[in-house]
This record gives sequence, C-alpha cells and structure tokens, in this order.
Amino acid sequence: MPPALLRATFAETKRLVDMDLDDLADLRNRTAAEQVKFFQEQRLLAPTSMFKCHCGSERELKSVDAEGTDCKWKCPVKACRSTKSYRLKSWFSNAKLSLVKALKYSYMWCMKQGNQKVRAREFRISKQTAVDWDNFHREGCCRWMLANQQGVKIGGPGKVVEVDEMQYKRKKHGVGRKTSTSDVWVMGGVERGSQRIFLVIVKDRTKQTLQSVIERYVKKGTTVITDAHVSYTGLSEKGYTHKVVNHKYHFVKPTDVLTHTQSQESIWQKVSRRFLLRLP
Ligand SMILES: [Zn+2]
Repeated sequence: MPPALLRATFAETKRLVDMDLDDLADLRNRTAAEQVKFFQEQRLLAPTSMFKCHCGSERELKSVDAEGTDCKWKCPVKACRSTKSYRLKSWFSNAKLSLVKALKYSYMWCMKQGNQKVRAREFRISKQTAVDWDNFHREGCCRWMLANQQGVKIGGPGKVVEVDEMQYKRKKHGVGRKTSTSDVWVMGGVERGSQRIFLVIVKDRTKQTLQSVIERYVKKGTTVITDAHVSYTGLSEKGYTHKVVNHKYHFVKPTDVLTHTQSQESIWQKVSRRFLLRLP
C-alpha cells in the first residue's frame, strides 16, 4: 500500500470517529456495492480511477452474488473479465472483517472502547488477530504523527517531559500480510499536563543521536525524565534537569510491537490521544 494512501485512509478513519455509530448500523443493511461507494465517498477506499483494467477498460463494481453481499471491480470486456478487490491499496486491504466491522473496530480503538479481549470477543476474531489489528492502528498513528508533526519544541522551564525509546519491530505491513521484518527505533517524548508530544525515528541509540533529538524537540530548562540508558548521561550539562527513572522495561516478545510496561499509560497511548486531538 502506498504510504500516502495509508495515511489518508487512516486520517479519514479517525475523522469518522465523529460519526454516529447508528450510521454504521444503517450501512450494514446496504449492499456491498453501496457500502463500497460510501467508503469511497469518505475516501476510505481507493477511487474508481485506480481500478482501470490493464486491457484499457474501466472496471465496474459488480456484485458477486444475487444478494449483493459481496462485490468486486470487474472488467466488462468479455475476453478479459479481470477482477480486483475494492480493498486494494486501502486501510482495509487484507482485513478479513467486513468494511463496516473493520471501521467499527477502528472506531472502538480510537475511542478506547473495550480492550483487546473485549474487541476480540465483539468481532469474533482470535486474540492474535486483535493483537495484529491493534498494532496496525498504532503503526498508522505513528506514520501519521511522523508525517504531520511540525518542528515544534515541547517543554520549557517548570515543565516535565518524559522521553522514551521504543523498538518498532514491524512484523507485518498490514493485517494478514507478510512482508520482510525490520527493526526501527522510535523515540518519543510527552509533556506532562499538556500531553504535547514529539515522535522521531532514530537510526541508533548512541549518546549523540538521542541527545541531539532531545535538543531538537525539547526546550532548554525542561525537566527531562528518561530511563537509565547510558546514552542519556551528561544531559544535565546541556541545559536540562535530568531525572532518571529506573523502570523495568519489557520489550516483551518480538511480536508485541510498540509495547512496554513502564506505566499504565504508555507514550503510545498518549500518542494516539494526541493524534486524535490534532484532527480537524
Ligand atoms: Zn480488462
């Protein structure tokens, strides 16, 4: 999926948080083709122009059954009849849930309705699928943040900023899709009280890298709280009040991306809330 489209669809998904859940219930009674049209209007699915056939004709949205419970983009040329999924290159590609259910899942995730267990039960999916979905949402959040944050500085005298680094181990690109694995270190900071954040991908965790990120995103005079990582030593000589919290970090299993148990409310949860606040 092109990252730009993923970002767009994720941002639009988040915008739909304002939507009434009853609207979603109404949608469920419409045919698959009508649902696809609606999702296209909301810019949650790729536009019709993206489904042009390789033979040169325009594919048409056709029901695959008499009841209209499913549909596909189908080439009208008899000799061709090539089909494509309407989910292609969207937030929903490879999702096994219906469009409406998948959207409802996003809604619940955004609104922090229920936890993984509750959602797994509600959507009748396995625990692992719920884990994948949650990770996919976190990843969407991070991508959006990374693409949309302007070079603002947080903190300042009298303010406290918690800084944390997390291993962003990407097992899958999308739900159910296997791609190559890659380890990325993401560094984030949250200003206590305002919940303003910064988020940045770092190439390593050397003293030079981590401290230059702090200097770039955190105002001098701030009380900066970090873990006991050796790369933070000497931070107090750079105009910050440096406090170390020697928490036990759990980067848990490689499958549990972006998780750690430092506190009840991790930076990642704050990121998602911040993300929510930033939307128009
Ligand atoms: Zn064709």
